[in-house]
Amino acid sequence: MFQPGRASLERIAVVGRGTAGSLAAASIARALPDHEYELHHIYDSRIPVIGVGEGSWPSLVSQLHELTDLPHETIQRRLNGTRKYGVSFEDWGRRNQHFIHFFTPPQVSYAYHLSADLLAGILEEATKAQHIDANVLRIRRVDDGAVIDFDGRSSERYDLVFDARGFPKEVVPEQHIDISFIPTNTAVIRRCPAIIEPQHDGPVVEHTYTRAVARPHGWVFVIPLTAHTSYGYIFNRDITSLTDVESDFDSFLSADQVSEFEQRAVLQFPNFVHRQMYDGVIARVGNAAAFMEPLEATAIVSAQMQIGMVLQMRINRSIDLLEKDTPVVNRFLVNNVLTYGLFVGWHYSCGSTYDSEFWRKARDNYWPTHKDVANPRRVDCSALEKFDALLKLLKQPVIDKEDWGQNAPLPLSSYAQISEGLGV
Ligand SMILES: Cc1cc2nc3c(=O)[nH]c(=O)nc-3n(C[C@H](O)[C@H](O)[C@H](O)COP(=O)(O)OP(=O)(O)OC[C@H]3O[C@@H](n4cnc5c(N)ncnc54)[C@H](O)[C@@H]3O)c2cc1C
Repeated sequence: MFQPGRASLERIAVVGRGTAGSLAAASIARALPDHEYELHHIYDSRIPVIGVGEGSWPSLVSQLHELTDLPHETIQRRLNGTRKYGVSFEDWGRRNQHFIHFFTPPQVSYAYHLSADLLAGILEEATKAQHIDANVLRIRRVDDGAVIDFDGRSSERYDLVFDARGFPKEVVPEQHIDISFIPTNTAVIRRCPAIIEPQHDGPVVEHTYTRAVARPHGWVFVIPLTAHTSYGYIFNRDITSLTDVESDFDSFLSADQVSEFEQRAVLQFPNFVHRQMYDGVIARVGNAAAFMEPLEATAIVSAQMQIGMVLQMRINRSIDLLEKDTPVVNRFLVNNVLTYGLFVGWHYSCGSTYDSEFWRKARDNYWPTHKDVANPRRVDCSALEKFDALLKLLKQPVIDKEDWGQNAPLPLSSYAQISEGLGV
C-alpha cells in the first residue's frame, strides 16, 4: 500500500511506559511492520505509572488482538480480565432507580475489566523498540522535528514524538481547558478479594458490569477482576474530608459484605483537556493529553483515538500537507475528548438519592458552568453545540434513522440510556 508520509518517519520516540505509552509504542510497531526505522521507548523507571485504569470500551478488545496477535481468550486471561458489558448505575439521578449503560449493541458488545499493571507487559512483548531508561527534561519543537533533552544524556532528534508522561504538573489556562464542571478531584483506591472466579479451561464469559454507586460524598466504582475486585471512592477534597470519605467507604464495604481490603492509594487528579494535543510532530497522549474522572472509563479509549489518529495522518498523508492538517487533527481530538467531558459531567446534572453538600454543589454549582467552560469561542471547537443538539434530539417524539449514527465518539444510544436512567 502506498503510504505518502512513510518516508518522513525514520526516528520515532514514545516517552512514558504507562498504558498510553505502551499502547502508542505497540501501535507504531503494528502500523510500520517493516522495522526500517528507529523506535525509542523512553521512560524513567523511578517515576511510577499511575496503575489504575481497569475499565475500558469495546474497541480495546479488537485492538489488543490486532496489536498482539494473541487469541482473545489468552489476552483476557493474561489480564485477569472479565467481560464488561456496560456500567451499572445505582442511586444516580432523580428517578431513584438503578439502570445500566450498555455498550451498543446491548448484551453483545463487551469491553474488558483488566489489571492495568499487566496491560503494558502484553503490549511490550509485541513491540520491537529500543528501551531507554532516562529522565526527560524537555521535548521541544525544532525546524525539522522534535528534540528530547535528557538528564545526563545527549539530546536526540526525532521525526515524531508521543508524549505519554502522565498528568501535567499543573493546569494552566493558556495550555489547558479546565473542565471543572466535573465536580470530583480525588480517589481512594482499595483492593478487595475477587468475586469472580477464574476458569481453569478458558476465559470467564459471565457478563459483568462496572458498578457506579452514588454515595453521600461522591460515588464508588466496583470493578470485578479474576485476581481481585477493585473499589474506588471518587470525591471532591475541597468539599469533603478524607476522614469522612474513608468512614463512608468502610460502611459501603461492610454493607457489601467485604470484610478485608488492602488500601492501595489516594490519588488526586485534574479534569482537563490540553488545547494542543498535536502540533504535527509532538503528540500528547493519555493523561498528558486530557483527563476526566473515571465514571465512564474514557481514558484508555481516548488514548486509542489520539494514537490512531496521529499515526494515520502521519503515515497516510504527505509531509507537504502537515501544516494544513495539524490544526484540523488537533481540533478533532480536542472536540472528541471535550465531548467525553460533557457526557461525564452531565451524569451529575440530576443529582442523586443523596441530598448532601456534594450532590447539591455538583448539580447546582459545578455542572451549570459547562456552558461557559465549553463555549466554542473559548475552546475553538463545537463540542458544546453538538452536545446541546443531541439533548434536543432526544426530546423529539420521533428520531429519524439518519440521526442515529451521527454522534461520534459516543453513540446516540449512550445518551439515550443515561437520559432515561437519570430522568433528564
Ligand atoms: C482513580 C482513577 C481511576 C481510573 N480508572 C480508569 C478506567 O477505569 N479506565 C480508563 O480507561 N482509565 C482510567 N483511569 C485513567 C488511567 O490513569 C489511564 O487510563 C492510564 O493509566 C493512562 O496513564 P498514562 O499512561 O497516560 O500515564 P502514567 O501511567 O502516569 O505513565 C506515565 C509514564 O511516563 C513516565 N514519565 C513521567 N515523567 C517522565 C519524565 N520526565 N521522563 C521520562 N519518563 C517520564 C513514567 O515513568 C511512566 O512510565 C483512571 C484514573 C484514575 C486516577
